[in-house]
Amino acid sequence: MKLVFATHNLNKLEEIKPLLPNFIELVSLSDIGCNDPIEEYGTTLEENAWIKAHFVKKNFGLDCFADDSGLEVPSLSGAPGVYSARYAGEEKNAEKNMEKLLVELRNKEDRSAQFRTVIALTFDGVEKEFEGTVNGEILHKKKGTSGFGYDPIFRPTGYEQSFAEFSLAEKNKISHRARAFKKLLLFLNK
Ligand code: IMP
Repeated sequence: MKLVFATHNLNKLEEIKPLLPNFIELVSLSDIGCNDPIEEYGTTLEENAWIKAHFVKKNFGLDCFADDSGLEVPSLSGAPGVYSARYAGEEKNAEKNMEKLLVELRNKEDRSAQFRTVIALTFDGVEKEFEGTVNGEILHKKKGTSGFGYDPIFRPTGYEQSFAEFSLAEKNKISHRARAFKKLLLFLNK
């Protein structure tokens, strides 16, 4: 059966493909001709993940999974959360997003934070949701050059390094995204 991963990112797709059971043919949004951006108008990660999965199911009649991730900071009432990519504006600039977060946290004692990924799946008549989180804290300044987004200012609990000082393989062992995808794969391989 065909299963759509609601992404245009072929690297993400190729990474997941070999981990799926043989009866599943994993395809991307581009593979099914879904080239217009799906508007993510939700106010939570869950809503956005379901918007994408349901869009594909409704318009293409195919089962689908979609992921949405964000950084949640309790002392900022969960911000930037679902707005992580565009925290400092629609241009989605990671440097500006980090700067804004550092300013917002300047006078806050509690710098705890979590990255969270939600995956929404429609599969064979059922709907399932999977979540992965990684706890940590927001550093006072950037450290490291790998990764993307908020990685240079996020230090996962139990480690000295920021996420931007991890290799991709190391980050994939503990990241929110990896944890959510592990749960999805366990379900699909059952
Ligand atoms: P997406 O849903 O995976 O596109 O993530 C949305 C936004 O959350 C990204 O543009 C980043 O700003 C932030 N984000 C999500 N995951 C990570 C991560 O692993 N490291 C750093 N930033 C992340």
